[in-house]
Amino acid sequence: MLKFVNLPRNTPTKESIDSRKKNFKEIYARYSNNKASEQASRCSQCGVPFCQVHCPLHNNIPDWLKLAAEDRLEEAYELSSSTNNMPEVCGRICPQDKLCEGNCVIEQAGHGTVTIGSIEKYITDHAWDQGWIKPIKINLERSQSVGIIGAGPAGLAAAEELRKKGYQITVYDRYDRPGGLLIYGIPNFKLEKEVVLKRTNRLKESGIEFKLNCEVGSTVSFKKLKENHDAILIATGVYKPHSINLNTNNASNVVPAMEFLTASNRKGLYDKVENFDNGKLNSFNKNVLVIGGGDTAMDCVRTAIRQSPASVKCLYRRDQKNMPGSQRDVLNAIEEGIEFNWLTLPINYIGGEKIEIIKAVKMNLGSPDETGRRHPVQVSGSEHEIKCDLVIEALGFDPENIPKIFNEPDLQVTQRGTININFKSMMSKIDGIFAAGDIVRGSSLVVWGIKDGRDVATCIHNYLEEKYSKFIRLSNKKVANAI
Ligand SMILES: Cc1cc2nc3c(=O)[nH]c(=O)nc-3n(C[C@H](O)[C@H](O)[C@H](O)COP(=O)(O)OP(=O)(O)OC[C@H]3O[C@@H](n4cnc5c(N)ncnc54)[C@H](O)[C@@H]3O)c2cc1C
Ligand code: SF4
Repeated sequence: MLKFVNLPRNTPTKESIDSRKKNFKEIYARYSNNKASEQASRCSQCGVPFCQVHCPLHNNIPDWLKLAAEDRLEEAYELSSSTNNMPEVCGRICPQDKLCEGNCVIEQAGHGTVTIGSIEKYITDHAWDQGWIKPIKINLERSQSVGIIGAGPAGLAAAEELRKKGYQITVYDRYDRPGGLLIYGIPNFKLEKEVVLKRTNRLKESGIEFKLNCEVGSTVSFKKLKENHDAILIATGVYKPHSINLNTNNASNVVPAMEFLTASNRKGLYDKVENFDNGKLNSFNKNVLVIGGGDTAMDCVRTAIRQSPASVKCLYRRDQKNMPGSQRDVLNAIEEGIEFNWLTLPINYIGGEKIEIIKAVKMNLGSPDETGRRHPVQVSGSEHEIKCDLVIEALGFDPENIPKIFNEPDLQVTQRGTININFKSMMSKIDGIFAAGDIVRGSSLVVWGIKDGRDVATCIHNYLEEKYSKFIRLSNKKVANAI
């Protein structure tokens, strides 16, 4: 059972952040060796591995559980990392209730799931501690190079897989640190930043070059990248925030979710963040309202509650059952003291330079919409006011206009603005330009980003092999003709 502990009301410092980590023990708790093998031995080796089927990476879960149960952790690590580039990350942040664990036969029988994610995390954390995870060993260096735009899970998984095959890899990212949403989106209390840094440092030590603070389309042109590399992967994620469009006065205390989360993640990395220190992006002593009901909204409310606010409320227009994200995160938020105003829709922001009150209405759920969820309808006469000092809008993301940013009109996009690829070759309409991750799927999950990164690496390898053999055939023909 999680416990919310009242925190001291002072501006967070390194010491107070560390002390909060101790207070919110559930996040940083680690399995002991005994506990991991005890849990792993609960797997009934049922012969119908629904867990494996429902893991996007089709991880060989039953086999590494068996190895963990027998305390053969190095072998368990080898097996688990053969299908997953970041098992310790997925073990921490996959919505297991919707994937592997939700489909565990023991869970279905009502006896509580085998805690697959926690065991996966334990195995790889242990492998790091034991020094089993080393830089990639390259057997054959190739001269062909691949440029990867975006250092999120999709770009990083592709970079690792291609480097293993000996390609020269450069990863470009507009952020100052690699990791994408792993570093600046997902909060520290779900995924400690050291875990991400260890992964990205290993890639650097493996010979992958990172060009950071490098925005393709402004710092460097897409055309230049095409000239410099034999293939390009676009793995830029989706970052254009949806808005409820009520902030007509541009009030300074209405902020998009990513701005709020990035500031807090930077603080967790001990960066100087002016807008956090001056209070703009800090919940300390404030009545915080988060609008939205997805995973990003849950990350915002749970981040806010850790900053000693006066109160944190989440406003969502449907009910708890119809929330789009992981129910596990919602339950965590409730247990940590977040107040949920379900079936509530903001209709007006009231205030000047700062919004002080949100006018909202209550909703009823009507018939299901195209996604199968029941459509919310306003209840007449239900208008009410909610006091606020900080409003965080967490309403989802759209892709940015990549063809425009890259000045590449031939790059085709779908109606949703995601990049249009051939799903077999993962190549866009332009020869040698591939795409993967959220920029193809729309907002998704880390584990799907890793899966796409691994798949696109295979596609790029096949493409470059073909290109190389064509080149050899042509050269041989030229030599033959010349003789
Ligand atoms: C707040 C939040 C919480 C989440 N929590 C979870 C969770 O708990 N579990 C889970 O499984 N998933 C979660 N997700 C979803 C998950 O993070 C994404 O699905 C995943 O990160 C997508 O990976 P990606 O590599 O496609 O893109 P990203 O991780 O977004 O990485 C894209 C990278 O491209 C870079 N980039 C973009 N444009 C350019 C450019 N022009 N030039 C150079 N670089 C560029 C960006 O800086 C970024 O580093 C969460 C998402 C959010 C927003
Ligand atoms: S990667 Fe995610 S879905 Fe797959 S086994 Fe690990 S925690 Fe479960």
